[in-house]
Amino acid sequence: MWPGVIRLDLARVPSPTSLLGLEVFSGLSLLGMPVACAPVARPVAPSFPGLGAAAKLLGTQIGREGVSRTAPVPGHSLRTSTSVSSGGDNAHAKVDLMNLDLHIHSTASDGAVSPAEVVKRAVQGRLDVIALTDHDTMAGLELAMEAARGEAIEIIPALEVSTTWDTTELHILGYFVDPSDPALRAHDGVAGERRAQRLEAMVGRLSDQGVDVSFDSVVAQAGEDTASLGRPHLARALQEAGYVQTVPEAFDRFIGNDHAAYIPTQLLDPEAAIQMIHGAGGIAIWAHPPMYLLAELLPDLVRMDLDGIEVYRPRNSPARVMELEGAAAAAGLQVLSGGSDWHSPDDGELGDFVVDSRQIGAFLERGGM
Ligand SMILES: [Zn+2]
Repeated sequence: MWPGVIRLDLARVPSPTSLLGLEVFSGLSLLGMPVACAPVARPVAPSFPGLGAAAKLLGTQIGREGVSRTAPVPGHSLRTSTSVSSGGDNAHAKVDLMNLDLHIHSTASDGAVSPAEVVKRAVQGRLDVIALTDHDTMAGLELAMEAARGEAIEIIPALEVSTTWDTTELHILGYFVDPSDPALRAHDGVAGERRAQRLEAMVGRLSDQGVDVSFDSVVAQAGEDTASLGRPHLARALQEAGYVQTVPEAFDRFIGNDHAAYIPTQLLDPEAAIQMIHGAGGIAIWAHPPMYLLAELLPDLVRMDLDGIEVYRPRNSPARVMELEGAAAAAGLQVLSGGSDWHSPDDGELGDFVVDSRQIGAFLERGGM
């Protein structure tokens, strides 16, 4: 039985206002870390479980000493990092906030490094909170949790669910989900099989084009730990077979969405995915919504009870971020998330891109952090 999942005990929060400030301050004080100043305008809730309780539930420890990072955080897509000041007597005191990356893949799906290695790199990258969002599986979570034990890092239980809307593949991220939820576990098993069948079919289509890679070589690229085969594994097999020099080239020339060999993963429709995530106690976020689909699909997804959209990404320009924030607000969605969608060291290092906890206050609030 999994020790638990991060949950917000809303009944213990005296006032849901200004939760970002509240959770940061209460989390710090609960952890016995030096709180440099007391917030003037924001309430402190000593009974709020905050990160300390979450860490205990998940068996990790938050150990970073009271570091004060006032320099701009690299990778910020919109807002710059400014320190929080209490005003009054402590006008110059600074409070450290959290750096997060909420979209990371491991070898449990199509990432290049193991869940433990992800955690190691995230710690090196000075990330405070990460989410392992492997495709349709949470198989990497336990290994990641083990690696995080004793480290100054927090892991949000999560996954990225592949869904099909018409002929379009949409990814719905589920955060704060209970990994022992039966429906999630069943999905994990079915999705693993479907993904393997899909990759096998893509190998067949490539062979029709005279491009010969074996399905076994795709599986070999994935390695033993993989619960979820994906196109990057096929891309690496194409690279090994000498058809391409790099993984992006494989997508450009052979297996991108607009190529004949491409077959979408036929899985849940978005509504079923959202329901499954909610059923497991989580929140559902539309991953990297393409701008051309946003206006068309967002109202429908909101009707399906979508909680929010992914906004903060390394590739999103400040203008794009503002557009996404505006679209979310117009649709009545307060919950925004962000992450690097990191798959391998080819994407840079973990921590190169960070989401600042102040950008995603509603998200953290929903997760009880
Ligand atoms: Zn992803």
